[in-house]
Amino acid sequence: MSRVFNFSAGPAVLPEEVLKEAAEEMLDYRGCGMSVMEMSHRSKVFDQIIKEAEADIRTLMNIPDNYKVLFLQGGASQQFAAVPMNLMKNKKAGYIITGQWAKKAFQEAKMYGEAVELASSADETFSYIPDCSDLPITDDMDYVYICENNTIYGTKFKTLPNTKGKDLVADVSSCFLSEPVDVTKYGIIYGGVQKNVGPAGMVIVIIREDLIRDDVLPGTPTMLKYKTQADNDSLYNTPPCYDIYICGKVFKWLLKNGGLSAMKELNEKKAKILYDYLDSSKLFKGTVRKEDRSLMNVPFVTGNEELDAKFVKEATEAGFVNLKGHRTVGGMRASIYNAMPIEGVEKLVEFMKKFEEENA
Ligand SMILES: *Cc1c(COP(=O)(O)O)cnc(C)c1O
Repeated sequence: MSRVFNFSAGPAVLPEEVLKEAAEEMLDYRGCGMSVMEMSHRSKVFDQIIKEAEADIRTLMNIPDNYKVLFLQGGASQQFAAVPMNLMKNKKAGYIITGQWAKKAFQEAKMYGEAVELASSADETFSYIPDCSDLPITDDMDYVYICENNTIYGTKFKTLPNTKGKDLVADVSSCFLSEPVDVTKYGIIYGGVQKNVGPAGMVIVIIREDLIRDDVLPGTPTMLKYKTQADNDSLYNTPPCYDIYICGKVFKWLLKNGGLSAMKELNEKKAKILYDYLDSSKLFKGTVRKEDRSLMNVPFVTGNEELDAKFVKEATEAGFVNLKGHRTVGGMRASIYNAMPIEGVEKLVEFMKKFEEENA
């Protein structure tokens, strides 16, 4: 068996230890004679899995008691609709457009009310985070929305926007559990798990209790009402059981490895290796304004499309896979999530140096 260094933006690399444990438990989960895929979501065994997962993410993120944790289907994109349907009481909200995912959420929200663009970095291909210290937020807005880490463009909010007292809703899909967060600064934090936490198909929603209400927009499907999901502890219907199980294992792996502050330290170290090289290279260069650089997604280019393609091809052959940039931006992108070992980044940089020498 040989595992590659997988720089995919998502679905992405998971900790090898977690995969091995899951493999060992595949046929017989802890003596119950079946796999987690095969058991009732109402069973005692599964009840323990989901409760432990919730307790562990609460510990990891230091989630206060007045926030609910929901494990839901539909991925992150489902929340683009769920958020306005549940929160748009005044039918108005502000969106900060820092990339494709924010734009998609913005466009979806327009179907349910007045979505206002508060700021945007579209003018420079989303290569920076706009100044959000004094946004045109009005009193009648129900919330302010951001995509905190922009997976495609490689930017990250280093300071949260000044929301002028409005609730902040954040899509954290690609920076989920990569560093400590102050949950109290948000009304809702949500993330699709396939970027940094687990298998695709599930979104984790962390929501302040007063935002879980009955007076949602008329026509909101039962399944999309946060209240339905919260009242039933994510078990209104069959939840993504196996996904919850794997995420639970990743939470335990994170706790064992020092939690989110240790992750942040390691992620900064990993990103620095790559960014330092990009800053010194004569061939490759980063595409993002330095102060807005993501620790998770690192886009870079040579400036020559043919050379980019040659790089991606040779890197793949050498075992560094999924480095091709998003189809909308081109170039390369290395996603270096929690589970990417530091050796992966060191070896990638070694490979890039060699490529630079050979193609000077
Ligand atoms: C990948 C991604 C999404 C979409 O996630 P799905 O689970 O495929 O819906 C949304 N937002 C961000 C920031 C992402 O990186």
